[in-house]
Amino acid sequence: MTTTSINTNTFKDKLNFPLIKKNISVLQINLGKRCNLACTHCHVEASPKRTEELSPQICEQLIALIYKFPEIQTVDLTGGAPEMNYGFKPLVEAAKSTGKQVIVRSNLTIYFADGFGDLPEYCAKHQVRVVASMPCYLADNVDKMRGTGVFDSSIKALQWLNQLGYSKNPNLILDLVYNPPLPANEKFSLAPEQTNLEQDYKMFLQEHFDIVFNNLFTITNLPVGRTKMHLERKKLHTSYLQFLESHFNHSTVEHLMCRDELSIDYLGNVYDCDFNQMMNLPAKTANGESLTVAKLLEFGSLNLINEIQTANYCYGCTAGCGSSCGGALL
Ligand code: SF4
Ligand code: SF4
Repeated sequence: MTTTSINTNTFKDKLNFPLIKKNISVLQINLGKRCNLACTHCHVEASPKRTEELSPQICEQLIALIYKFPEIQTVDLTGGAPEMNYGFKPLVEAAKSTGKQVIVRSNLTIYFADGFGDLPEYCAKHQVRVVASMPCYLADNVDKMRGTGVFDSSIKALQWLNQLGYSKNPNLILDLVYNPPLPANEKFSLAPEQTNLEQDYKMFLQEHFDIVFNNLFTITNLPVGRTKMHLERKKLHTSYLQFLESHFNHSTVEHLMCRDELSIDYLGNVYDCDFNQMMNLPAKTANGESLTVAKLLEFGSLNLINEIQTANYCYGCTAGCGSSCGGALL
């Protein structure tokens, strides 16, 4: 049995008040589940075999949304490998033409796949902020999580980005993402302190590969997607949730990423965050209706959600120093 003694209301009970949206300033778009990799911890369960991706019709609606709402300050493109979708470049260009920050969550190895070799220059030209997965600075650990050869390709890609000015030119930001390894037993731990780990990464990558980058983001493994499947296989799902709950830190709540973002799936449905998207927990209006990009355009407002939908995996965002797509919260 893999059911948990922590039910999905517990997180809500723990907060003891409704988790309310602030004004929306971040649009995170998940362009689909297609990826050239199939990492063991992937919460999207992405792989080269997945075919679900953004259609031209939804892409057009998203571009209209980007133009319509100046309060969107950041457009955050994720996937799968978002660069594999034809909508990647049109979305980048729409967002940049309206003065927004654009983030691409890149696995870096995509630069070496057939047909994608222009991406580093393209991202530099459009000043796209690259947030790149690098779960460890040691090759064995990265290859174990992400596939053979991924570490070497990632190193080459980072050197390429540096040559183009990333992390040297103030307009070309390059951030790395650390995920802890998936637990093999009940000796759970949270990610190491972000600032200290960033220093370790910087020293190691500079010394061994002459690589520089801006920020390291530590992200907790939430029990979602392949991480959840792994925990269930190991019969660790319940104890991992209890571990996360036992590290609940109320000070993180104010800063949770779901407070000011909308997460959009490849079909144009709206969620409070990418984790809720993967767990099929759509955002709801005060009337209990679900939202789509088409409805946001029709109503002329991004601020239609009152209470954020939560579940037990939310404990991953509130444990210790907290966790988000932008790293620790505190
Ligand atoms: S973690 Fe990222 S790179 Fe790995 S399979 Fe998932 S989407 Fe692809
Ligand atoms: S998973 Fe995290 S970001 Fe998503 S709704 Fe829960 S607390 Fe918010």
